[in-house]
Amino acid sequence: MERVQAQVEGHYRSELVEEIRARGGLLTVGETTFRLAKQFGFCYGVERAIDLAYAARKVFPDQRIFLLGEIIHNPDVNAQIAALGIRHLAAHPSEADIDALSPEDIVIVPAFGAEAPIVAAVKAHGCQIVDTTCGDVMSVWKRVRQNAREQVTSIIHGKAQHEETRATASRALGEGGGHYLVVLDLAETDLVCDYIRHGGDAEKRAAFLRHFEHACSPGFDPDVHLRQVGVANQTTMLRSETEEVQRRVRAAIADRDRELPGDTKNFRFFDTICGATQERQDALFDLLRAPLDLLLVVGGYNSSNTTHLAEIGEKTTPTYFVRNADCLRSADEIARFDLHAKEEVAARGWLPTTGPIRIGLTAGASCPNNLIEDVIHRILELRGETVAI
Ligand code: SF4
Repeated sequence: MERVQAQVEGHYRSELVEEIRARGGLLTVGETTFRLAKQFGFCYGVERAIDLAYAARKVFPDQRIFLLGEIIHNPDVNAQIAALGIRHLAAHPSEADIDALSPEDIVIVPAFGAEAPIVAAVKAHGCQIVDTTCGDVMSVWKRVRQNAREQVTSIIHGKAQHEETRATASRALGEGGGHYLVVLDLAETDLVCDYIRHGGDAEKRAAFLRHFEHACSPGFDPDVHLRQVGVANQTTMLRSETEEVQRRVRAAIADRDRELPGDTKNFRFFDTICGATQERQDALFDLLRAPLDLLLVVGGYNSSNTTHLAEIGEKTTPTYFVRNADCLRSADEIARFDLHAKEEVAARGWLPTTGPIRIGLTAGASCPNNLIEDVIHRILELRGETVAI
């Protein structure tokens, strides 16, 4: 394992970032000041998943190794994993994909887990599984399985198509009798709350089912399956939003059942935001208390926790969500992910080349330190400065 860790560190470590951390997160070079969030970058779950993938390559040097989807949501890390000769298998492989596996093959389950029937199909095929699912994700599964056993519908605050939420939803079915409904945001939560409070005629029921067509369990009936509910969440959601989802659902159940919100028998809530997500969000709120001219959020565009960091940042500060240093095309042009358009767009005039500037930096749980170092060097290069560390 030591050799594996050395290899992983060799790929993702940054002495510069470690040095800035040791200095309290502050680096000033000439007129450029960087402030790093106290917590950012790789979380324990991601580190473990990457270590296990590298270890699998060492332990099974001659066998074919497949990865279900992406190990984490970072294109640079996924490219490194591919460079180890680990092959890609779709996150939702077809029957033909699974049939093409042989019993000697190794299949890696990523940090956010995989849907129960897919894992079962791969196992039934005789393949050995290297399961890197994070313990915090498994805690959510424990909760939703318990809901299923007790005939409680899981309302999952998350992104219906995100691998983690799909994996969680598959566990919410329990042994077959459980149900789930995925709500993305407060607008969808309000639709659910309205149905809980007032029910619906045939037309309203049909509209409700149409709206949640790809976000509910097979056979979901809002007239039956919203009687008893338990709210859980994807581990990487925005805490404030998740708390509001649970508060609104609880209030709707209390109104319907004519109870006080604290006494609702038909409502359960388990806080399943993971510690790493929470720490990164808290550290960013802290960072934003100091005056900043701009904030850079580094990470994969499909990374849920990174997206929420960018969301927090853009409320108060000019924020640029970038994949890596290549996005910093020039001092005039930056390629950044637009959270609203959901695509990479070019922005202009983002970086003054002269005068004092204070730049905040943070990164999602799937972003390695070497990418953050690259961003720091690129900014200094564009401003004609170099760091001596
Ligand atoms: S973000 Fe949280 S749940 Fe996801 S891998 Fe990291 S620690 Fe685990």
